[in-house]
Amino acid sequence: MSQNTDNRNVIVVGAGIGGIATAARLARRGYHVKVIEKNEKAGGRCGRMTIDGHTFDTGATLFLMPELYAETFTALGERMEDHLDLRRLDPTYHLYFPDDSALQLTPDMHRMKAQLEAIEPGSYDRLLAYLSEGGEHYRLSLPNLIERDFRSLPEFINPRMLSLFLRLKTLTRHTDYTGHYFRDPRLQMAFTFQDMYMGLSPYDSPATYSLMQYTELADGLYYPMGGMYRIAEALTGIAGKLGVEFVYNAPVEKILVEGGRATGVTLAGGRSLPADVVVANADLGYVYRSLLPDDGTAGRIDKMEYGCSTIMFYWGLDKQFPQFGPHNLYLNGDYRQSFEDIFKATIMSDEPNFYVHAPVRLDPSMAPAGRDTLYVAVPVGHVNPALSQDWPGLQAKARAYVLRRLGELGVPDLEAHIKVERSFVPTDWRDRYNLTRGSTHGLSHKLTQMAWFRPHNRHNRYHNLYFVGASTHPGTGLPTVLVSADLAARRVQEEMPL
Ligand SMILES: Cc1cc2nc3c(=O)[nH]c(=O)nc-3n(C[C@H](O)[C@H](O)[C@H](O)COP(=O)(O)OP(=O)(O)OC[C@H]3O[C@@H](n4cnc5c(N)ncnc54)[C@H](O)[C@@H]3O)c2cc1C
Repeated sequence: MSQNTDNRNVIVVGAGIGGIATAARLARRGYHVKVIEKNEKAGGRCGRMTIDGHTFDTGATLFLMPELYAETFTALGERMEDHLDLRRLDPTYHLYFPDDSALQLTPDMHRMKAQLEAIEPGSYDRLLAYLSEGGEHYRLSLPNLIERDFRSLPEFINPRMLSLFLRLKTLTRHTDYTGHYFRDPRLQMAFTFQDMYMGLSPYDSPATYSLMQYTELADGLYYPMGGMYRIAEALTGIAGKLGVEFVYNAPVEKILVEGGRATGVTLAGGRSLPADVVVANADLGYVYRSLLPDDGTAGRIDKMEYGCSTIMFYWGLDKQFPQFGPHNLYLNGDYRQSFEDIFKATIMSDEPNFYVHAPVRLDPSMAPAGRDTLYVAVPVGHVNPALSQDWPGLQAKARAYVLRRLGELGVPDLEAHIKVERSFVPTDWRDRYNLTRGSTHGLSHKLTQMAWFRPHNRHNRYHNLYFVGASTHPGTGLPTVLVSADLAARRVQEEMPL
């Protein structure tokens, strides 16, 4: 269908962070890039909603691994600091445990020591050792697993990689590993809950993921002034300057294929757009299931393991609640059971864990003067057609539980001050962004879904069809998706040169 033979015209399906970054990288290398997005604006799961002066980041809120963001800006000929005003957070989290006790995770090691020693004498030195190992895991994983573009199985399974897997403790469960360092269950929780971001229970995830605690405390957790959506705005602005054209409110209905090639896309309404190269940023499972001819892959990807979803509440309050830090995590009920519930049974726990983000203490622009803006995430199982999941009922139950638990922990009168309210349930995540099973983080990062085993950045049959995003290699989370964009763009340039 395409008349071009110079590979120049690229269509990117989806304006998530992965799609925008790939588009910008390719435009900088001389490709003509058009990004087609189903929704009214760019950003995807790094979204924003503004209601009555309250600005909500709707998805991502934690800015980690700043060097991976900086690399993207540099590759685009820009400096991150010219676009993002980053503030390092201290404390990183306010944690609340089932017994109502609390701990502030902080990069200030004096304050950390005082808190840890009060919980478990001797634990501070063990934290230092734990972070040192986590740092080693991070430094080894980044070049060898995350940034590496695996093209064949022998590149992944060989004596060198096997020795790497041993050093990364891939066969040790994270909870067992943390148990060697800390006896107190609260500390075991404090240094494993982050595995949820990888779509995994810490009872199933490899000890490799202690790299997450290292990155948060040692490399830092940041906040971009104006909110996380600034990242989408900055990258979209740069992409536009490089010539990328964005088309919104334009759902792609099919990726057109002919023989062994993708030839373009069809939009809702029937209009076809030809392309020399297609990059799919929409959720991978959805792309195989709904946009491509069925070759059996959709069924295989559907059988893979997906991470959890969330019930969200976005609350605009008519007063400020100084009880909240910027990131607050409430661990409730039985820790192990909470992961069984959401990852195995795909339900909501009776006493669910939840997270509250309160950006106004960092950034007054996120609410009108004197008011507060809260984002509440309650992790729950993803959409599971085999169960009858009553989302409105669970939404009401989650809301009541969050308000009750906050009341128990010193925020008694919050409900009376809610003046703006929006809520998402897993089916909203599924329908708004076409996410398979409404899973907010996509395919989980268990061992057999990592690196070579994770869906690759190029289609096996259509060699001019590339994939970028959370459920492709290297995986989910904004910094990782930025690496995915780098790998996809490099591969396009190598295989489809101008
Ligand atoms: C609640 C939540 C909290 C999170 N917290 C964090 C965090 O704190 N830190 C962090 O780093 N990460 C976090 N993440 C993960 C992070 O947001 C994602 O990994 C990342 O945004 C995924 O980007 P992506 O480009 O792969 O996909 P997406 O953001 O899903 O983008 C894909 C785009 O494709 C579009 N699309 C889909 N179908 C079509 C179609 N047919 N035609 C055209 N367009 C289409 C979608 O509308 C979307 O805009 C969070 C995610 C969620 C949901």
